[in-house]
Amino acid sequence: MAAIPKTANGPADEAADDLTLLAERHLVQPWPVSGSIGAEARGRLDAGEGIYVTDASGRRLIDGPAGMWCVNAGHRNRELAEVMASQAMELSYNSPWYTTNAPSVILSARLAEHAPDGVDHVFYTTGGSSAVETALRFMQFANNVKGRPEKKLIVSRQGGYHGSTYLSASLNGRPRDHDWMDSASDLVVKLSCPDPFRRPDGMSVEAFCDFLVEEFRQVIEEKGADRIGAFIAEPVMASGGVIVPPPGYLRRMQDLCRRNDILFIADEVVTAFGRLGHVFASKEVFGIEPDMITFAKGVTSGYFPLGGVMIAGRLFEELRRSNHSEAMFAHGLTYSSHPVGCAVALKNLDILEGGLLAHARAVSDHFQQSLKALEELPLVGEVRGLGLMACVECVADRASKNPLTLDLEVGKRIDRHCQELGLLVRPLIHMCVMSPPLTISLEQIDDMVSILRRGIELTMDDLT
Ligand code: PLP
Repeated sequence: MAAIPKTANGPADEAADDLTLLAERHLVQPWPVSGSIGAEARGRLDAGEGIYVTDASGRRLIDGPAGMWCVNAGHRNRELAEVMASQAMELSYNSPWYTTNAPSVILSARLAEHAPDGVDHVFYTTGGSSAVETALRFMQFANNVKGRPEKKLIVSRQGGYHGSTYLSASLNGRPRDHDWMDSASDLVVKLSCPDPFRRPDGMSVEAFCDFLVEEFRQVIEEKGADRIGAFIAEPVMASGGVIVPPPGYLRRMQDLCRRNDILFIADEVVTAFGRLGHVFASKEVFGIEPDMITFAKGVTSGYFPLGGVMIAGRLFEELRRSNHSEAMFAHGLTYSSHPVGCAVALKNLDILEGGLLAHARAVSDHFQQSLKALEELPLVGEVRGLGLMACVECVADRASKNPLTLDLEVGKRIDRHCQELGLLVRPLIHMCVMSPPLTISLEQIDDMVSILRRGIELTMDDLT
């Protein structure tokens, strides 16, 4: 570990040896709360191995959320570490403005093989937010070039999460996303969350699906197809609580997009690279063929910050045929097409194709069924999921599905108990999300679920 500076705040300070204190003084963690900025840096991790991480006290914990849905190949994968080092020694960087590098070219061709037919170009970014931002700016650019500058509205959904840059964050629809933050709300229209668990009382799932599709149709009618540029959707809403939409929903939304010349952007930042058992889930799992697919996280199993957007080649063809061949897509990042990130992604793809995708598919039923059994517990309203992502949603009352109030901090309580028992979970208000490394074995799934069960039982004790 790197030496800890003794002079963090002026004169040498013995107490500054303490990393927690240094973090409080100098580190701002993501999503901090005003009153406790600095104090957010809790639970330091020092090491990882497979599905496990080790915390500062030396305790081993199962990494239930695989970091942030990303450590798909597991921690401490030697092949990924070695390819990172060897690519850095070979070519550590090249300007993507006027040069290219072999890993990014080869990776693009390999990703195109996995994407739906014709979705065969890739623009690389530094993560998911910049991937979504790129997709949206590309839509804006394309519509400007095609002479329809009014066609810019973006349709997203309540409950969705697409990033933390200004435009991508404007699409978000989770509780608290916009309480204190500005957004480009004039550019965004939000549809209902396609959450079958929270559908209106007495409505069948099929009728709920009809309702959702009809809602989109009405928005198109009201706003005008000539003003809507894109519809963006996570095939399975991830941080909104692993919302698996009703059967047929995504295909029907795609049909509406096609009929109205609205680009369909599938945000696969979480669902790609094995989380649902395939490199991309759009076509293989849901039978949809989006115009653009955004990805990040699992593309390098979180070993290097890389993201990107797959773009249908026909969209470039339309631009080539336009009257504006001089128009520049004035958008690029210093780290676009990073050779080290792309080399890691290539090795990660080898690992996925070499058996990890098949393994993820083979263990996912056991993962889902074992977690589903937690519905026996009175605090649990629903366990839902797909592939190797799942969510345990707690409720105050099962009959009415009343959500638990924020102040009860049920997610955080479960998280605290589970950490003491050896499991990290991702708490979301009254929900816990599970998305372990894809390397997880059947026995490890059993360990994980039995700790989670105990954590929920202890939380029920707290609340009585
Ligand atoms: N899109 C989805 C579906 C996500 O879950 C996330 C992050 O969790 C993002 C986009 C943003 O990705 P990043 O945090 O890499 O910018």
